[in-house]
Amino acid sequence: ADNYNQKIDYIFKIVLIGDSAVGKSQLLARFARNEFSLDSKATIGVEFQTKTLIVDSKTVKAQIWDTVGQERHRYPGSASSTSLIQLSTPESVYRAVASAYYRGAVGAMLVYDLTKRQSFDHMARWLEELRGHVDKNIVIMLIANKCDLGSLRAVPVEDAQEFTERENLFFMETSALQSTNVEGAFMTVLTEIYNIIS
Ligand code: GDP
Ligand code: MG
Repeated sequence: ADNYNQKIDYIFKIVLIGDSAVGKSQLLARFARNEFSLDSKATIGVEFQTKTLIVDSKTVKAQIWDTVGQERHRYPGSASSTSLIQLSTPESVYRAVASAYYRGAVGAMLVYDLTKRQSFDHMARWLEELRGHVDKNIVIMLIANKCDLGSLRAVPVEDAQEFTERENLFFMETSALQSTNVEGAFMTVLTEIYNIIS
């Protein structure tokens, strides 16, 4: 929990993006509260969580935004569950929500599920949308989540590394379930942001 008397040197907004069900909300729950749920509900509504930590002896409040059920808007048919918002939200409303979501972000985690090839193939479009909304200095990390399910892997590490190098991103494999690299991924993004602005 945040200490309210703490002096905050920086607030860094980080956005989580990627297809539905890749594990964005569980990565956030693991990082912010050290929690994990196997039957997590699709996120509805704009939501963020904060975690205050020390980066290079400065107090940094990470404000991490989680997507809001619009993830499948551009991928009809790829859904494994239904979204009521998707059925009733016109494109103009989607765009307004997306703008608010990305506004002011200095870091982004582009998350796919390494057992779902399609969630990796969609990364290019998520990246394109992100870059259309943010400053070019934003720190972006590609995350291959669910590395605990290695026997079901559908995306070779080489494919991710090639994409990472071409697009100039950072890359890590994580497991929100087993807590693998979750702290490391967020800390890398926060430290890189700090290095840029300091
Ligand atoms: P989101 O739609 O991207 O926010 O995905 P969620 O965080 O809601 O997770 C979707 C499903 O994947 C849930 O059933 C989670 O329990 C599961 N999940 C998330 N992260 C992991 C992980 O690292 N390993 C495994 N095995 N399952 C995960
Ligand atoms: Mg979610």
